Amino acid sequence: MSSVSPRRDAQDERALRILELTSAQFIDQARALGRSAPIALELYRSAYRMGRIEDTSIHVEHMPLTRTQEEGDTIKFTQQLQAGEETESVLIPMRKRSGGHSRTLCVSSQIGCAMGCGFCETAQMGLIRNLSAAQIVGQWFAARHTLGHEVKNIVFMGMGEPMDNLDEVLQAIRVLVDHNGPSIPSGNITISTVGRIDGIRRLAEFVRSDGFHRMNLAVSVNGPDDEVRSSLMPINRGMNMEALREALMDFPLHGGAALLIEYVLIPDVNDSDRQCDQLCAWLKPLRCSLNVIPYNPRRDSPWEAPEESSIDRFIARAMGNGQFVKRRGTKGRDVMAACGQLGNPEIRKSARTRRLEKP
Ligand code: SAH
Repeated sequence: MSSVSPRRDAQDERALRILELTSAQFIDQARALGRSAPIALELYRSAYRMGRIEDTSIHVEHMPLTRTQEEGDTIKFTQQLQAGEETESVLIPMRKRSGGHSRTLCVSSQIGCAMGCGFCETAQMGLIRNLSAAQIVGQWFAARHTLGHEVKNIVFMGMGEPMDNLDEVLQAIRVLVDHNGPSIPSGNITISTVGRIDGIRRLAEFVRSDGFHRMNLAVSVNGPDDEVRSSLMPINRGMNMEALREALMDFPLHGGAALLIEYVLIPDVNDSDRQCDQLCAWLKPLRCSLNVIPYNPRRDSPWEAPEESSIDRFIARAMGNGQFVKRRGTKGRDVMAACGQLGNPEIRKSARTRRLEKP
């Protein structure tokens, strides 16, 4: 696994790597360098709140913005880690009742992904590497301080499977919720997984710990039964839907919270009335909201996007079955920023070459 582990950029051993540290950790390390606790706290706050790095011993991960692409108010941006390695993130506007809007930041936890889901663009790249906690927080830092946007919610729905890189993802979350740092409420953070059961159980432990009770879990179900789900998502061959549901039933839900069940609707694959009923029956014992995601064709896709009428029919039928349903928009489709469209075809090519070159 060493080739995919997060690569940390060259730096002074004694630098304070602020993007991977909570304020308490930062203060501890700063004190070892001779800074008083109040001064260290001030440095931490002004770095996160104003984007000001005033002390030469503070190290901010080097990940320059390489591209921003906009479609309406949706902004996709990439940051370079090194040649050929880029993170991808998306800022999505959420309309508020008051008429204004706030933004959700969709972050990547890996470059590429090892899960191999047939409908997803990122899967076509294979896994290039895990991102470090600092490189995950660095995506928030760029959205906030380089692009200048307030971020209300964070969703781990960009490139990668968070459960394949959970240590770094959890550390990033500890930093993102820090009151002296980004200060994102844990209830505004969602981790989305293909359904790695060991990861869901570990996350359940984390969510039970102080300060994280309200964190949200989203699970990509995408199939109404094991046969269809296994054909779309290789993970299901080892961790089937019955085992997945058991793990979900044990997941702690705080107050009125519900699990988010994602279902990518693909024409003639998983969108029939019978499949809708099957899905709803499987969901029955779970406190959940069903998020129907119209399929966004990946590059070289064998399937088309679903027709409006079949999306409406599927949603109406699920509601008729007593299921609470939300429909996810397709914002960003034109700039390959919508769900399942992140991934760099150039990197895909070189990754494939690298794999072929291996003895
Ligand atoms: N690996 C995680 C998070 C990344 S994908 C997971 O699988 O949940 C975020 C969501 O986008 C998932 O629900 C996934 O099923 C969905 N998705 C992937 N490819 C898609 C596509 N081509 N069109 C629409 N949604 C897609």
